[in-house]
Amino acid sequence: MRVMFVAAEVAPFAKVGGLADVAAALPRALAELGVEAAVVAPKYRVVAERGKLSRAARFTVPVAGEEKPCTAYRGTLPKSKVPVYFLGHDPYFDRPGIYGEKGGEYPDSLARFTFLSRGALALAEALAWRPDVIHANDWHTALVPVYLRLGETGPRAKTVLTIHNLAYQGWFPADQASAIGLDAESIRLLAIGNQVNLLKGGIQAADLLTTVSPSYAVEILERGEGLEAVLRARKDDLVGVLNGVDYTVWNPARDPYLWAAYSADDPAGKTENKRRLRAELGLVDDGSPLVGMISRLAEQKGFDLVAQAFDRMMALGIQFVVLGTGDPRYEAFLQEAVDRYPGRAKALIAFSEEWAHRIEAAADIFLMPSRFEPCGLNQMYSLRYGAVPVVRATGGLKDTVHECDPVRDTGNGFTFTDYTADAMLEALGRAVHLFRRDPAAWRRLVQRGMREDHSWTRSAQVYLTLYERLLGQQNS
Ligand code: ADP
Repeated sequence: MRVMFVAAEVAPFAKVGGLADVAAALPRALAELGVEAAVVAPKYRVVAERGKLSRAARFTVPVAGEEKPCTAYRGTLPKSKVPVYFLGHDPYFDRPGIYGEKGGEYPDSLARFTFLSRGALALAEALAWRPDVIHANDWHTALVPVYLRLGETGPRAKTVLTIHNLAYQGWFPADQASAIGLDAESIRLLAIGNQVNLLKGGIQAADLLTTVSPSYAVEILERGEGLEAVLRARKDDLVGVLNGVDYTVWNPARDPYLWAAYSADDPAGKTENKRRLRAELGLVDDGSPLVGMISRLAEQKGFDLVAQAFDRMMALGIQFVVLGTGDPRYEAFLQEAVDRYPGRAKALIAFSEEWAHRIEAAADIFLMPSRFEPCGLNQMYSLRYGAVPVVRATGGLKDTVHECDPVRDTGNGFTFTDYTADAMLEALGRAVHLFRRDPAAWRRLVQRGMREDHSWTRSAQVYLTLYERLLGQQNS
C-alpha cells in the first residue's frame, strides 16, 4: 500500500508544534508495518539548513490562475528510508518564518498552502507515484481532499484528513478565494458567510476523518468551534486515534539530558535527577513532592486555574517548577507568584528541550489542567518518566490518564472533571496525600505508569486498518 502524507510541518526539518512530530513518527511507523510511505511538505528556508536534499522533479502548480514553478527536493526521515519531498517555490517559502514572523501570520497563507495542497497532487503525477491513500493534516492541507473530491486534478486516491487542533481552521476573506482555483459553485463547499474556511471544505470532502484521541472525537461534535454541524454530518466517518510517543527521544534509560539514567526496573536514578534539579534551581531538599508543568502558556492549558489556586497549591506543601513561554500575562503571573516562594517554586520562562526532559525526570507529579486537549503528549512522557500525571479529564488526557485506586492498585494518575480551581486542587490534594501517607503504594503507582506502552506502533496499526477499510470500500 502506498500512502502520501501531506503536512505543513515535519520534524526535524520544520517544527512549530506536535503536528511536526506526528508527520515524522506516523509515516516511519507505517513504513515499519510494510507501507510504502512518503511525506510532502514545503521547502521552507529552515529545511534547506537542516537536511541533505537532492532534486527530485520540476513541474508547475496552478495558484490564483497562474502556473507557479515548483522544484521538488527529496530528503529522508531520520532513522528510516521514508522519503520526504519538499516543494520549493522561493517566493512563498524562502522566508525566515514557517507561518509568519513576529507573532503575525504571512498575509498570503492561502496561496502558500494552496500551493502545498495542489503541489502534492502534481508531485504524484510528476513522479508517476500513485498513492492509494493521501493523508492530509489540519487546515493547511484540507484542500487536498477537496480537489480530489471535485475531480479537479490528481490521482484516484482515497483521502484521510486528520484534525490535530480544531481551534485552527484556515479562515480567509472570500475575495482571496480565487487563489484556490475552483469555480463559484465548488467554492460553496468552503464558504461560511463571506469567508472561506478550508477545514470545513476538507471535513466535507475527505473519505475519512480522524482526530488525535477518541474523547476529542466525541467532544468536537458538541463543541466544534463553529464546525459542529459540519462534523456531525460526518460523524460516522470520524475516528479518534491517539498519538504515540517517540521512545527513542523520551526514554529515561537513555536520555542525554538527564543527570542519571533510570527505568521501571532500576528507578534509583530518579532521586538523583530530583536532587540535581533542586540544586541547580535553588530549591530546598526537604522531601516534599515536586510538581512540574511544561507547556505553552496559553489559555487552552489551564493557567487561569493555576493563577486562581496558586497559594492554595503551595499550601498543600508542594514544590513547584514550571517551564513555558507564551502569553505575557501568564509569564508575568508565574514570575511574580514563584518569587513569593523562594526555595520552593521556580519558573523557567523559556523554550528548552533540555529542561523539559530534566523536569519530567525530576518531578514526582506532573500537572496538566487543560481546558481542552486534543491529545497531549506531556502526560504520556510523564508516565514513562515516573512523574504521576494530575490532569483534567478532557480529550486525550481523559483517554490516557486514569484515576488511581491505591487499594486495588489500579490507575496511573489523578483526574478532575469540572474546570474549576477547587476541582484541580482536590485532585492535586489526593496525589500529595498518597505521596506522603503511603510511599509503597506511590512507588507501585509510579511503576505502573512507567511500564505503560504509548509507542507509535499501536497507533500506526490502527491507521493501517483504517486505510485498508477505505481501500476495501473502493474495491467492493
Ligand atoms: P501542544 O501541541 O498543544 O503545545 P502537546 O502536549 O501535544 O501540546 O505538545 C507540546 C510539546 O511541546 C511537548 O513535547 C512539550 O514538551 C513541548 N513544549 C511545550 N512548551 C515547551 C517549552 N517551554 N520548552 C520545551 N518544550 C516545550
